[in-house]
Amino acid sequence: MTSMKVAIVQNHEEKSQVVAQKLREMLKKANIKIDDQRPELVISIGGDGTLLSAFHRFNHRLDEVSFLGVHTGHLGFYTDWRDFELEELVDSLSSNRGKSVSYPLLDVRITFLDGKPDKHFLALNESTIKRGNRTMVADILIKDELFERFRGDGLSVSTPTGSTAYNKSVGGAVIHPSINAFQLAEIASLNNRVFRTLGSPIVIAHTEWLEVKLQDSKDYLVTVDQLDIEQDNIASVYYRIADERIHFASYRHMHFWRRVKDAFISEG
Ligand code: NAP
Ligand code: MN
Repeated sequence: MTSMKVAIVQNHEEKSQVVAQKLREMLKKANIKIDDQRPELVISIGGDGTLLSAFHRFNHRLDEVSFLGVHTGHLGFYTDWRDFELEELVDSLSSNRGKSVSYPLLDVRITFLDGKPDKHFLALNESTIKRGNRTMVADILIKDELFERFRGDGLSVSTPTGSTAYNKSVGGAVIHPSINAFQLAEIASLNNRVFRTLGSPIVIAHTEWLEVKLQDSKDYLVTVDQLDIEQDNIASVYYRIADERIHFASYRHMHFWRRVKDAFISEG
């Protein structure tokens, strides 16, 4: 008794292809429709990276879609289900058991010096700004007020669920995803008697916004999750918590800190 429409997104690994094929057959048997254009549920099969691509494929329909991740490798942060639990998964879809959870997303807006229209993105993990061979120099404004002048390799701005990804590698804090805020972390800041930044990551409220105003506009790379946006003539990049959220069909739920422990300290 279900009319739920499901899309499946898998990565290129053979194991994921096999699991995806098997799941398609099981959904068919359970009379659950596959619809890769207008799904209500998106099942990603692979790793966290696969779920990130699934998110970007359907990020124009976030109000109508929820996501569910099956992992074919190690346990992920966006992937609750194991590949050998498909039967239980299909059962839970048919009976509509469980409830959905939602997490904050990062709203990214790039403005240009030459009057080009702004570019607008949503990030599930993070957005970074980096510079190739020269020092990045940028003024950092919080709520339109100058906070500091940054010099260094770059900056990472992440969501709570992205806090365990790139953010963690650059010394950011791990943030529980029920906290509706975003985090700014430095990448190799230059600090000496002349140049000074705060030096520690900061967590910014959902009511606030951040502007990174580049002082020289050449040779910048802005990333949004897996997406690379190489740009000249960037004036500023603005960040805030998005109005949209990502919904997960969490037909069961895993303790966040247990997941952190499993991923980074020890399994079991
Ligand atoms: P990738 O190079 O395969 O990702 C690097 C690792 O980050 C993979 O092990 C991936 O898990 C894991 N990961 C992704 N999202 C995560 C999250 N929210 N929490 C904890 N770990 C997470 O590339 P990808 O799979 O396409 O993922 C893109 C992400 O990689 C970016 O958004 C960025 O956060 C991260 N990244 C990290 C670094 C770094 O730490 N130095 C550098 C570049 C990119 P799976 O194996 O399950 O996919
Ligand atoms: Mn990956």
